[in-house]
Amino acid sequence: MLLDLFAVGKEILYSIPEKLTVSEFVEREIHLPSRVSFDPGPISFRDASYVYECLEDFEDTGAKDICNCFGSQVFKTAMMLCGLMERIARNPINIGWVMGNEQLAESFSKTKWKDMVDASPAILKHRGSSKGDTTILEQAFDRCFFTFLASGASKNLKGRSIGIIVIDEPDDVEEEYAKRGESAIGLAEARTKSFPDAKRFLNGTPTLPGAPVWQGFLLGDRRLRYVTCPHCTGPRFVLEFDPQYIREWFPVYDPATGKGVLAAKVVWDQDARKEDGDWNWDKVEDSARIECPNCKAKLTEHDKRMMCRKENGAVWRPTNTDAPRGYRSRRLPAIYSPHESTTIGKTAVKFLKSKDKPGALRNFINEELALPYQQRATVTTVSDIKAVVKSSPAYLRGEVPKDDIALLSLTVDVNQGLFHWLIRAWFGDKANALVDYGPVLSWASLIEVAKTKYTVGKTGLMLSPMFRIIDSGWRTKQESGVYDFCLNESAKAGVPFIPVKGATRTQGLKHTVEDSIVDWKGRNVQLTRFDEPVLKYDLYFSRIKSRDSKWWLPTNTGKDYEEQLTEEYLKDTKDGQEWGCKSSPPNNHLGDCEKMQLIIPSLLEELQGVDAFGILAKRIAAKVQA
Ligand SMILES: [Zn+2]
Repeated sequence: MLLDLFAVGKEILYSIPEKLTVSEFVEREIHLPSRVSFDPGPISFRDASYVYECLEDFEDTGAKDICNCFGSQVFKTAMMLCGLMERIARNPINIGWVMGNEQLAESFSKTKWKDMVDASPAILKHRGSSKGDTTILEQAFDRCFFTFLASGASKNLKGRSIGIIVIDEPDDVEEEYAKRGESAIGLAEARTKSFPDAKRFLNGTPTLPGAPVWQGFLLGDRRLRYVTCPHCTGPRFVLEFDPQYIREWFPVYDPATGKGVLAAKVVWDQDARKEDGDWNWDKVEDSARIECPNCKAKLTEHDKRMMCRKENGAVWRPTNTDAPRGYRSRRLPAIYSPHESTTIGKTAVKFLKSKDKPGALRNFINEELALPYQQRATVTTVSDIKAVVKSSPAYLRGEVPKDDIALLSLTVDVNQGLFHWLIRAWFGDKANALVDYGPVLSWASLIEVAKTKYTVGKTGLMLSPMFRIIDSGWRTKQESGVYDFCLNESAKAGVPFIPVKGATRTQGLKHTVEDSIVDWKGRNVQLTRFDEPVLKYDLYFSRIKSRDSKWWLPTNTGKDYEEQLTEEYLKDTKDGQEWGCKSSPPNNHLGDCEKMQLIIPSLLEELQGVDAFGILAKRIAAKVQA
């Protein structure tokens, strides 16, 4: 009896909305399902205090179109569910939750949503009285409906009007709707028209700049989460992995006026490396800190957690004063989350592991930084090529810049009666240098090129290419000519060529470089196939963009080379990425020659064992001395 009275008293108290804020209600009445949390009792956002203001949107009549552009693992879906449950309990209104397709909506309804409602008695008691009122996708509560909307579920389109609509992960949802010629955002607007106090929420992680999340963020007042340094009295700042990533979207901070976005960055021990020079992940993780932009103090994970709390001064601040009335938007990188996978250390490691892989870097930028990924039209630029020249030792075309030569290799791209050739010198320490290149018009001239001798460094030794490789790929349309040249003319001249062909994994290739036997006019031809996407990536990203190996170019590298090495680019597509060429027909012949050069390390390792270059260089040095 006493318990009943207490419950009634509580009900009366909480039905007066002015008494409790949405967050206060949520932290008293909403419980996490036991399978999600080991912590029984009401939910707490103390360590995720960015949530509080977002929850108030649910009752704030000034917020109509809200976009939360958040990284991953920041509890953004749970946050939305909490806000909606508060409305069901205290200020009911019809609610719509939009998902990409019916299967997703059903499983979400049966697991996440059901678990949250079942765990919280204050919400559960508002469930529709008879079971008949409720289906998986349309659930009756005592004074409102909660409807799951999905692409293709046509009966949803003409249902009852809705007061609050949430599109969870709108970039994915809109893509699903687009497959059927529909728009989730259009649907949300149509269904909420008749409610004067309607709210539309976009809640998700950004993907591309033109997709709904980022567009929604730009449309609103662009709030960022500001924190205060525990070690100094400098102005508040935002937490970023690296301020350079936000430069194109937010004004740079000007200390004189205090305008712009002041941002902290993540730093780590630059000597946290293994003996072979690779990063030591444990040391990177342990040494990573947030650097205060004011006093340069290195803030720990514990400091971060404390300064992200509301009571320690963390606040949302708008960075766009031109937003239309009612449009509110926020951006939150994952590093603000107390989640164990978004620590400062784990974020630094994730960055280093993904920075050279376009697909992984894209995920990092979207999910950790909560920023859209800019499509990159060009992979390599002329300035990238010039940077390689600058970082190479100074030498001229025709020169071999070092004494410890292992071999010279010649690669040839065949193209409509024109041959592009290119020679590289490989050294004992695996460094390699472009020696010479050019076009020739005939097979006979190609044999002359193959016989040309180059002086090695200061040794006086004269060498001609030891490996001669020629492309017999489909683009040549002269495959027969290439095989004949390999078997007959070049062999007779004493400089036999190896035919090679680019392929992909979908064409049955299992290794980066592998041999196969081709029958040609009753004779066996040994054809070497190579994984073209892998070698392209190696060339354009590892060798040219990152310059993480000793891959050299002469000081007088020509414009023709620059043009042909910047012809190919990687572009983003819906399903990932694909390579393209700027011109048609493609003008990337020297690029193809450079790709073929990258077969050499794989070929040698098979022939000689691991330190093939060192062994060959020693043999040549011994001969020179003798
Ligand atoms: Zn400070």
